[in-house]
Amino acid sequence: MAGADLEKYKTAAFACIERNAGAIALVGDSIFYFGELGNQEYQSAALMSGLLEKEGFEVTRGLSGFPTAFLATHGSGKPVVALHTEFDGNPDNSQRPGVCEPAPIVEGAPGHCEGHNVNAAVMIGAAIALRRVMEEHKLPGTLKVFGAPAEEQLLSRPYFVRDGLFDDADIALHPHIGADLRVGHGLMQSALVSATFTFHGESAHAGTAPWNARDALDAVMLMDAGLNQYREHLKPTARLHRVIVEGGHQPNVIPKRAKIWWYFRDSSAQGAQILFDQAKRIAEGAALMTNTEAEHDVLSAVWPTRGNRTVAEVVRGNIETVGLPPWSKEENALAVALQKKVGVAAGGLTKELSPYEGKVQQRASANDGGDVSWKVPMVKFYFPGNIPNIGYHHWAAGVALATSIAHKGAVAGAKVLAASALDFLTRPELVDEAWTTFADELGGTTYESLLPAGQEPPADLNRTLMEAFRPAMAEHYLTAKPEFA
Ligand SMILES: [Zn+2]
Repeated sequence: MAGADLEKYKTAAFACIERNAGAIALVGDSIFYFGELGNQEYQSAALMSGLLEKEGFEVTRGLSGFPTAFLATHGSGKPVVALHTEFDGNPDNSQRPGVCEPAPIVEGAPGHCEGHNVNAAVMIGAAIALRRVMEEHKLPGTLKVFGAPAEEQLLSRPYFVRDGLFDDADIALHPHIGADLRVGHGLMQSALVSATFTFHGESAHAGTAPWNARDALDAVMLMDAGLNQYREHLKPTARLHRVIVEGGHQPNVIPKRAKIWWYFRDSSAQGAQILFDQAKRIAEGAALMTNTEAEHDVLSAVWPTRGNRTVAEVVRGNIETVGLPPWSKEENALAVALQKKVGVAAGGLTKELSPYEGKVQQRASANDGGDVSWKVPMVKFYFPGNIPNIGYHHWAAGVALATSIAHKGAVAGAKVLAASALDFLTRPELVDEAWTTFADELGGTTYESLLPAGQEPPADLNRTLMEAFRPAMAEHYLTAKPEFA
């Protein structure tokens, strides 16, 4: 492929993205106000998959038992370039955009507090531009666009990979919001096993006949105590965290059923599995001590996200071409005000690209896209839209996500994503090089899903919570519909 042609394709994709900046912003803002929790992203998935269908993509909905998952395909043959990203929110993080104090749109409701709404906008903007350029210039290859639900519960992509949905992919690209435009390679994130433990006992009147009970909540508390003792013996890379999702109903009824939900993280899949195995023994111990019965259910289990060096270098090249958006005084002032309010370094928005990171530091965060990165050369790259130094899963992280900061960041992210896909669609030698470096990086490690055989995803997860808030949230949905010109 002559370089001049490739430049022409990228220029055409950039022009399409710029022309549709308003529509891309509206995709992100609409999903922001939908504020849907994992596996309940019905409005968000319908919006995204509907836009792609309208553009002529062939759309399949409901992948791997996930009702809100979708795959949109365009083209045929090799290479197969896969784009994938998430679009879910988090519980109790409703926040009005542009307001620098806790200000829920709907009190107690779910909301976006990381920016997966903007991830969705980036992927849709890039996919539409790519399809148009591929069509107009008769480019070879297949574009596969995956909508991956319930990232906050680390859910969907290990199931997609297990079910063979990435078997034919040559390259995978995962855009994720950050506070700047960056990419690196190597192990980036951690492995994680998500599992619930349910204890079954027998209830009794807590006042008149507590001796007749077998207390399931006691077992949950002893399991928690057991894992707390175990914490001293954890490697620094390990993390254990939990919520009690069922702990009984009222104090005078001894709970016959109680349930605790754990995440077990470590730097390797094997490490996360060791933590989980120890937790199963501790659960058995807790059941023995309380005369209850324990059962567990694995919701998900993910490998650590890794970045391929070749793909990272290609994406970095496009990051240098695209550059950071020029921020207005008002945008920077909003960032400084929020940083001051939260008490973090108040340098405003990121104004200069940082040098190429190369090999990155592995972090304790996890993403369910990790499994994809062991199956096919992939990177997860970050585009701007968040305010630097603001931690995720906190009201402050919702402030920028439906403002011009996120809108400009989405345009930059969509350009980098589209340009990188075009590099791989038109330069087969780059795909070959990525597979060579990928083989080196795996170093003989064989990827095997951590999911138990036959495991089904929890498709109903978050349904009750989402249904409780949806009517009040629906009053704030945007009425304008994104139209791509
Ligand atoms: Zn995320």
